[in-house]
Amino acid sequence: MSIQVLSAEVINQIAAGEVVERPAHLVKELIENSIDAGATELVIETAHGGRFVRVADNGVGIYRDELPKALERHATSKIQVSNDLWNLNTFGFRGEALASIAAVSKFSLQSVQRTEKKASQIQAQFGKVSAVLPSSRSSGTEIKIEDLFENVPARLKFMKSESAESQQIKQIVKAAALAHPQIEFKLIQDGTLQYFFKSAGSLQERAQIVLEKTSLYFTAASRGNFSVEIAFSSPHEVVKTSKQIWIFAQNRFVQDRALQAAVLDAYRSLLMHGEYPLVVVKLKCDPSEIDVNIHPTKSQVKYQDSASAFRCVHGALRAALEQAPWITKPTTTESVSSTYMEGVTAAVANYSRNLSFQDHSLGMTHFKQKDFSMKPAEVVRTKTGGYWADVQILGQANLTYIICQKGDRLIYVDQHAAHERVAFESLMESWNKKKFEVQDYLFPFVIDLSADKVEALLTIQESILELGIKIERLGPISLGITSAPSLIKDSALPPLFEKMAADIIDHGGSYAIEKKVGDIFATMACHSVVRAGQSLSHAQMHELLISMDRFALSSFCPHGRPVSVDTTFMELEKLFGRIN
Ligand code: ADP
Ligand code: MG
Repeated sequence: MSIQVLSAEVINQIAAGEVVERPAHLVKELIENSIDAGATELVIETAHGGRFVRVADNGVGIYRDELPKALERHATSKIQVSNDLWNLNTFGFRGEALASIAAVSKFSLQSVQRTEKKASQIQAQFGKVSAVLPSSRSSGTEIKIEDLFENVPARLKFMKSESAESQQIKQIVKAAALAHPQIEFKLIQDGTLQYFFKSAGSLQERAQIVLEKTSLYFTAASRGNFSVEIAFSSPHEVVKTSKQIWIFAQNRFVQDRALQAAVLDAYRSLLMHGEYPLVVVKLKCDPSEIDVNIHPTKSQVKYQDSASAFRCVHGALRAALEQAPWITKPTTTESVSSTYMEGVTAAVANYSRNLSFQDHSLGMTHFKQKDFSMKPAEVVRTKTGGYWADVQILGQANLTYIICQKGDRLIYVDQHAAHERVAFESLMESWNKKKFEVQDYLFPFVIDLSADKVEALLTIQESILELGIKIERLGPISLGITSAPSLIKDSALPPLFEKMAADIIDHGGSYAIEKKVGDIFATMACHSVVRAGQSLSHAQMHELLISMDRFALSSFCPHGRPVSVDTTFMELEKLFGRIN
């Protein structure tokens, strides 16, 4: 066969494969065109999994004379010279979408240029473009696509099921709505109104509607060349997949594993295994810092300084989570029967006081009972105004829960989870300050392990010392511990060392302790604190609660379980039929 230049028709069909691989991509291209045209209202209608699509907007429109050009390949109003590629403020720039779509569908476009005020239309049947004619549209642009891929049977064959495609289109519309809170979106699928997102005043407001969560929190920050806005859920509101983590780079919805990792790491120790938060991250930087042209559907981007992007997102979200904004600040409005409850609790409190607990210096180390030389424990001082400082303790239930009240609510605290969290945070704090309060043992505390484990642990003796733990060889199968942080119980040491040794062996001897501290301290904390089933005095309960004020994130245990749950008296009153 002789070599021939392909006809424009074939070229367009090939390109269509790249730009509009599937109907959802096509919908995305059309939405982006409307947004680039300054539209504030969009109606998107699809049927049969996207083989029919109609997108109508109220944007600036296209001049009658330019309609044929809009359908030409590499025809765009958005960039002129290649340098513009680095300073993009629009979604489109390749000038390929309309040409590609028109090559593989029955295509029609109607538009009214805002100043020209002449409604016109142009059509194309699988690449054959018709003449421009007048039309009746009153403003903006409407593009209609029917029988998509009818002339490309191969592509039709590979199309996903209609429902999978409709689902994907919904995602595209949600992403666009999150990227542009102020724009109104309406999505109609197979004749049913799916979404109607009215113009919203803020990202937080829009995110709450789109993600169907009434309580999302918001933070914004900037760092170096980056600025970020984040709407996020409390660790109580979680889902089973990472799909509700939405990342936007310059308002483009992107797949960015690094930034997704930044989000998850910010929630570190607040979520249980398999739990994911709902988060919308909108990261912006100077257009020259980012390359959006690395992927055909522009779903990936590249930052010049990706480490700073990571730090900006991680830092902002972690700081916001540490504020624990989901902790309800009690309202001052008195509920109907609060006087009654006050009477009850005053009586209970009085009763507790009469038992006269004097031990106010009781710190966590007091839960440790053993004969050893002990360096003086730092007394945990109550910070006035902390959330937990002035909750009223009503008692201990089932030797597991501390029951308290504050303001208009009843609070149940899981004593083990609470203590575990505090111990964990104290250890983390000591680690960050590189200063552990340690206690020396009069006689080494002996741990028996297999010989290879003893060897493995001795290879990282120095690193272990950084944890405040001093170890020495006592024999081929035993280690002696001569000092350890005063916060931890001896019984935490054998499971900890078993785990560490197994880790070192698994990793062929290489072991970076810095990467493991979270795990290590979680294990230490878990084995060092009060258990469920342990009776606590009123003073111990009080001491435990106020120690939670020292750490912002104390509302979750290091494994991500909540430390406390609460209910309002209002809810109680409903149960009792006092109010409806
Ligand atoms: P690109 O978006 O990369 O420029 P397209 O093929 O998507 O390429 O669109 C070609 C041109 O048609 C755009 O540059 C724009 O000028 C015009 N256009 C497309 N859709 C619209 C719309 N909804 N409103 C106004 N102009 C539009
Ligand atoms: Mg475009």
